[in-house]
Amino acid sequence: MKKYIRPNILNLEPYSTARDEFQGAGIDIDVWLDANESPYPSTVNRYPDPHQKELKKRISSLFNIPEDMIFVGGAGSDEAIDVTFRVFCRPGVDNVVAITPSYGVYKVSAAINDVELREVLLNEDFSLPVERILAATDSNTKLIWICSPNNPTGNALPKEEIKHIAGNFDGIVIVDEAYADFSDKGSMIDDIRELPNVIVLRTFSKAWGMAGMRAGMAFADPVIIEYFDRVKYPYNMSSIIQRELLRRIDEGTGNHIPQLISERDKLAAALNEISTVRKVYPSDANFLLIKVEDANNMYDYLMKNGVIVRNRSKMPLCAGTLRITVGTPEENKRIIELISKYPK
Ligand SMILES: *Cc1c(COP(=O)(O)O)cnc(C)c1O
Repeated sequence: MKKYIRPNILNLEPYSTARDEFQGAGIDIDVWLDANESPYPSTVNRYPDPHQKELKKRISSLFNIPEDMIFVGGAGSDEAIDVTFRVFCRPGVDNVVAITPSYGVYKVSAAINDVELREVLLNEDFSLPVERILAATDSNTKLIWICSPNNPTGNALPKEEIKHIAGNFDGIVIVDEAYADFSDKGSMIDDIRELPNVIVLRTFSKAWGMAGMRAGMAFADPVIIEYFDRVKYPYNMSSIIQRELLRRIDEGTGNHIPQLISERDKLAAALNEISTVRKVYPSDANFLLIKVEDANNMYDYLMKNGVIVRNRSKMPLCAGTLRITVGTPEENKRIIELISKYPK
């Protein structure tokens, strides 16, 4: 894996925190005067664990993956996206390939890091253009970005095709699984031991109901994780969030996956009955992409009635589409009623 890492990152002398240098061979320390913290106790007077050990232990059992294959981002999986660019891509030299339409952050993060992003249009039916993706790469292509289930199209992409890409590409394949909890098509997590050039991204923001916490993960080969940890800000997740995440994972709160899946399917069926809705695309996520006669007007109409959806009409292959997040049964009823009455 080391051959894919930027030379300056390979040679990086990482920042060593106060607690990293202390190797307390079994000695009980009760006076901590090493980190210029305030000595006066509160819930937050000490620096957080930069290695998030407790949290990684919990995530390890939750996702059935060894602790040394886990990176935790305190700015969500968006942080993992940015760190991926910084670890692998030489600004102004390397390039990456990404499917389109897909999640917007890959492109923004590429631009921030001065890395060329080559977009490969999905097939008309939103399936994966495997050969066109491989053909878009050259000797300076470091990354291929795939999102499955894909945002905004909603469909999961076949694991076999993703594996084929990973097996035939001399670089890193990132599979963003932000919505995998809503899909019955499986995850690539169990495949990364055999495919060390694959990174899987997951998040607590969607299915776990914790978008406000900003907690996301990258799962990858231990060598990749080692360099991610060197490049991240040392204290990239606050102690409050680490504690709160552990508490909520244990409580299992915020997990409404079965309800959301059943609501998604009901919402899709109801929207399919409405004449102004031309198409409801199949979804493996917690949102639906629909094609309507005049997306811009319907967007304004919904907004004027207090409901905001995402207008995806300007995205490639998505002319005339709106993306609707699955809400509570009451919220879904409201949008169904509004769309049935449209254009009144
Ligand atoms: C929402 C979303 C994310 C963002 O996750 P955070 O952990 O909240 O940063 C990542 N990827 C995709 C495809 C998303 O839709």
